[in-house]
Amino acid sequence: MIKITLPDGAVREFNPGITALEIAKSISEGLARKVLAAEINGQVWDATRPIEQDSSLKLLTWEDKDGKSTFWHSSAHLMAEAVESLYPGVKFWVGPALEKGFYYDMDLGARQLTEDDLRKLEVKMNELAKANNKYERKGIAKKEAIQYFDEKGDLYKLDLLQGLQDGEITFYTQGNFTDLCRGPHIPATGFIKALKLTNISGAYWKGDEKNKMLTRVYGVSFPSQKELDEYLLLLEEAKKRDHRKLGKELGIYTMDDDVGQGLIMWMPNGTIIIEELEKLAKETEQAAGYKRVITPHIAKESMYLTSGHLPYYADSMYPPMELDGEKYYLKSMNCPHHHKIFAAEPKSYRDLPYRIAEYGTVYRYEQSGELFGLMRVRCLHMNDAHIYCTKEQFEAEFRAVNEMYIKYFKIFGIDKYVMRLSLHSPEKLGQKYVNEPELWKETEDMVREVLISSQIPYIEVQDEAAFYGPKIDVQIYSVIGREFTLATNQVDFSQGRSFKLHYTTADNQSDTPLIIHRAPLGTHERFIGFLLEHYAGKFPLWLAPLQVKVLPISDKFIDYSQSILQKLKNSDIRAEVDDRPEKIGKKIRDTELARVPYMLVVGEKEMNENKVSVRRQGKGDTGVKSIDEFINETIIEIKERRE
Ligand SMILES: [Zn+2]
Ligand SMILES: [Zn+2]
Repeated sequence: MIKITLPDGAVREFNPGITALEIAKSISEGLARKVLAAEINGQVWDATRPIEQDSSLKLLTWEDKDGKSTFWHSSAHLMAEAVESLYPGVKFWVGPALEKGFYYDMDLGARQLTEDDLRKLEVKMNELAKANNKYERKGIAKKEAIQYFDEKGDLYKLDLLQGLQDGEITFYTQGNFTDLCRGPHIPATGFIKALKLTNISGAYWKGDEKNKMLTRVYGVSFPSQKELDEYLLLLEEAKKRDHRKLGKELGIYTMDDDVGQGLIMWMPNGTIIIEELEKLAKETEQAAGYKRVITPHIAKESMYLTSGHLPYYADSMYPPMELDGEKYYLKSMNCPHHHKIFAAEPKSYRDLPYRIAEYGTVYRYEQSGELFGLMRVRCLHMNDAHIYCTKEQFEAEFRAVNEMYIKYFKIFGIDKYVMRLSLHSPEKLGQKYVNEPELWKETEDMVREVLISSQIPYIEVQDEAAFYGPKIDVQIYSVIGREFTLATNQVDFSQGRSFKLHYTTADNQSDTPLIIHRAPLGTHERFIGFLLEHYAGKFPLWLAPLQVKVLPISDKFIDYSQSILQKLKNSDIRAEVDDRPEKIGKKIRDTELARVPYMLVVGEKEMNENKVSVRRQGKGDTGVKSIDEFINETIIEIKERRE
């Protein structure tokens, strides 16, 4: 008998050769229907693969990340089977799972796939899924594997085989399709209940443009039709909320080939949003004891050698400019400049914590293929700050930073967020990580302690820390549930030393401060991209580029409208009059479309009573008010940054 340890610690005995699927069945049939794969001693396996030794076992279902990716990768095999049955002679490269869905790269010769072809392939895939064929794993000798693909004439698989040795080669077969694959896969095709092929694109073999262009077909699949329907609905909603589409419609930002790829120009409406965000940041930071600084956009090579960015991050920096025999780089982060400000005057323990903030402009060289709207750009404006503190002060400072994040989330109605705590890996001290085992342990414990005691949802990941300390990546979710990586909150016990930063302690010794890097609002680029999707362009009043539009019913009321406009402007409310000779119905529709929060409709009655009829975006008519009453209420709504 072998001993199987379950996640709850229970140990059960089975005959050797038992499979995870059989173990699931011994628990319940319902569970067995959901098992997609299994984690055996920390490795993801086929649920149908025999277990021969004492092992720990975790059953993986759709709820597990590895369960989902096994499902999607198996769907790629199913798609390949359908493609081969419709287009015999096709050659395959690789077909991995993605964050959401899967793709397979293939060589279809001269054939160009169309949307129609995708629909035909979906029908075939559904048919093959219903056949409920098992995914069968088989170890195979390299010689035999080569012979198999040689006969098929599949040079891509032969290329993959070159890097493999006898003993590590497995074939997986479902129905009439056999693939070279290390697995794992779901038990059978019948688990795939609903699917959609979403896109066709070209992809160079091995990503090298000197190679042949293969056809890449993308798809997504689910264990129920309901989940596919929900996914398609979300996709449609996301399309409507696409920040590139809304950014253009609402006059938020633009790009121009003469300026350069990935370089955002903020138009007047976008600039208003930026100024409001900066105002929020300044108020919040001032209240939290930060001081503001301003630093140049370039610095000499020597500074980036000290910081360690050169040569390691040279690839993500713009190439240097030569001036008076020196090299200058566009800054890719603000930290080194801030360290120099810290060092500019002698510091004692009384000066700490020393917190300095700047909406800093940084430049990053992103590959042109990676650029994407506001999400991946080459010039960023970062809600940056650095806190220099003693070890004793660290916990309170770190806690305050987290509280600031959460305060912002409330303002923006971000209900769902997760913090990802990235830790070091002890084996890589001195290589990937600063060789300070005790400091690592100490700071990691402190960070974890703060997260737990503040009841912040978080997950821990090993071996993903920064070189100089643990970091927290903050992931937020828009109202439609899409995930955005917002910002990083980092602890740093190394740069202080590299820059020889020090302060005088209470007993007159010299010590190096710990540094916290934080940017709760991320960059303007990414955050406004997020907000466009999150609000579907309907910004809350305080952020809306245009807050109020006055709509005279006819020309007769333009003068009255102008007097209202003047009052609004005197109260710092962003307003305009729609004095076009249009019908009021059209004026209202256009203002709704422009997503202006308030409309003030004025006609005979309003003018005679010195009042306005108020319409709220999305709510319609909310009644007649005196202009003073409207202004007072609006000022409060703006000041409180109500949603
Ligand atoms: Zn596979
Ligand atoms: Zn920094």
